Formats: sequence, structure tokens, C-alpha cells
Amino acid sequence: MPRKTSPHWGFALTELLMIPGPIEISPAVRRAMEVAVPSHTSTAVIEAHGRALRRMRQVWLADDDAQPFVLPGSGTLAMEVAVHNTVAVGDVVLVVNTGYFSDRIAEMARRRGATVHELTVSPGSAPTAEQLEEAFTRHRPAVVLATHVDTSTGVRIDPAPICALAREVGALTIFDGVCATAGERFEMGALGADVYLTASQKAIGLPPGLALLVASARALERRERLGDAVPMVFDWQRWRPVMQAYEAGGAAYFSTPATLLILALDVALGELVDEGMNAVFERHQACADAMREAWRELGLQPLGDPAVAANTLSALRYPDGVGPELIAQIRAHGVVVAGGLYPGLQQSYFRVGHMGYSTTQPEQIETTIEAVRRAVLSTRS
Ligand code: PMP
Repeated sequence: MPRKTSPHWGFALTELLMIPGPIEISPAVRRAMEVAVPSHTSTAVIEAHGRALRRMRQVWLADDDAQPFVLPGSGTLAMEVAVHNTVAVGDVVLVVNTGYFSDRIAEMARRRGATVHELTVSPGSAPTAEQLEEAFTRHRPAVVLATHVDTSTGVRIDPAPICALAREVGALTIFDGVCATAGERFEMGALGADVYLTASQKAIGLPPGLALLVASARALERRERLGDAVPMVFDWQRWRPVMQAYEAGGAAYFSTPATLLILALDVALGELVDEGMNAVFERHQACADAMREAWRELGLQPLGDPAVAANTLSALRYPDGVGPELIAQIRAHGVVVAGGLYPGLQQSYFRVGHMGYSTTQPEQIETTIEAVRRAVLSTRS
């Protein structure tokens, strides 16, 4: 287990971080950042940036003409960038709403001036094929926004029927993959999805600080018709020449890139590409299955429908008579887990992340299960 000690930050840094992001990162990714800060025009950054962009297409399973973007920022910034480059004022937008982060992107589309319709399902469930079909037929959206895994509920939606229905009405599809990318199977090119976005601190396996998106050729075309209506810092037309320059082996400047994180990104994506995306998705599936089995043995109930439970996290109801104090009890055994997030239900469940590096380390998974087990058992004695 990586033990983090520092003369400056001796406190709390030996805990195992098992929240749904940020997560534990691999020793190789950490080592990649243990260098002097490089310039954005250095050979190291030019090489790493170019390779990272090519590797993003491989990890996203995207078409060759899709454009990856690496931006300094967060998942929320990636969402905002996707909305601003694809949604025009007055567009009809359909949000497939499975929780807290779907609410957020719906609000972004409203602020953008779109007419927003939401297909909202009860917490812990995913929309049915009939509900989706009805919503597409009724609203005929220009853009569809959906959260691949909603981190508040642990629900994973199936992107395939959404992409198929979108094709029928000519809509663009944007998927928030912040809690899914590189953990849940998503074949961007085969699906025909238009934007798949994430942030560095989740299953990609870096610290927070990068917004990562891949846009299809169709999405890039849609941007063209928006003219100058896109705030400059979000604008694909400002960022794209920079990405193209790095991929072509040179540097270009619009706004200073997060150079150290780009070195780390190249390494993290390299680990995923070397393992193979199929193996990566299967690893997350196997780890999630083992976690779910452990929770069943402990009598912990999932928040939502097990049929749509994500592989990247568990959302678990507190046992009867127990509340958020359980989180501190788990932490006393050296493992950090997260509280509930869905509005109105925060006090009724907690969340355990299982994505990225920890899923390659059986002893981290065992430590997590054991910490939860001891905390739960202590509430019964
Ligand atoms: N979408 C989802 C599904 C998320 O899980 C998160 C972060 N937990 C975000 C968006 C927002 O990302 P950030 O906190 O990096 O802005």
C-alpha cells in the first residue's frame, strides 16, 4: 500500500482514500510528477502532451477524427465546455436526469439559454427504454445530456439506446463520464456519442486539476455555427489549434497548460493502454462484484436498483439505527469513504469508491472491506 509521509503534512496522509474521487494513484503516476516544473514548450511536455492526446482516443475508444482536449480544470469545467460548444441559445435540450450531477448540467444548459426538458427518474433507478423513447418523440431535442454514472446515486445508465434515439432525431449526445471514464465500458466511436468528458481525479488516475473531453467531428461542426458566442476560455476553437500543435510535435499557447499533470496524464493513460481497455473494464467489474458480495454478507443494502449499479462506486444505506457517524468509525480503521450526496437523502447512505489504481491492489480492497466490516460490527455490539 502506498504510504504517504511528508515532513510538512504528517497528519491524515496515511489513510486509504476510497471516496468516489479523488482516488489513490499509481506509484508510476506519482513519480512522473516528481520533477522540476517544466515549461509548456519543453521537449518533455511536447512529447507527453502529444502522446496523451493520442492515448485519449484509445482510452475513449474514439474515432480517428475525434478531437481530444486536455484543459486545466475540473469535471465541472469539462461539463461547461461541452455545453457551451454544442448548445445554442434557444436549442431544445433533453437531460436524462439520474441525480445530482444531471441537475448540474441541466442548470448549465438553462443558463446557456436552452429550453431544457428533463427525464427525471427516482433516485437509484435508470430510465427505461419506453421512457427514453417517449421523451425523444415528445421533445425532439437538438442536444441530449446524460450522466454515465451519477456519483450521487451510483446509477449507471446504458448509453446505447440514448445514442440510437439521438441518431433518429439528429441530436448530439453528451455524456458526463466523470465517475465512469476508464472504469465503465464506453466505446465512443462505436456508440456514435458526440462528447465524452471526465476529470483527472477519477478512474483515469491522477490528482484533480485536468478537464478531459473528446469531441466527435459532428460536435466540432456544431461548434462552428455558434460564431463568437462561446466564452473564450471554454472555446474549442481557441483550444483546438493548441491540441493539434502538440499532437503534431510542436507547442502552441492559448492559456498555460498544467504541465506537471500532463506528464502524469501521459503515464496514467499509458498504463491503461498497456493493460487494454477490455481488461480495464473487466477489472472494474470484478472488483465491484467482490465489493457487492462483501456488502451482501454484511447485510448492507444498496441505495438503488442493483441492476443499474455502477462498477466504480457503491452507494450503501446505513444499517438501521446508524447514521453518518459510521463514516468516522470507518475512518478510525484507516479508510476514507464519503457521505451521501443526493438531495434529501444525504443522511441515509454512504459511498465507497472503487476505481482506478486501488482496483489493481487486492490488499487495498481487502483493507476497505475490513474497515467497513469492523465499523458496521461495532454498531451492533
Ligand atoms: N460529474 C460527475 C458524475 C461527478 O462525479 C463529478 C465530481 N464528483 C463532477 C461531474 C464534477 O467534477 P468536479 O468536482 O471535478 O468539478
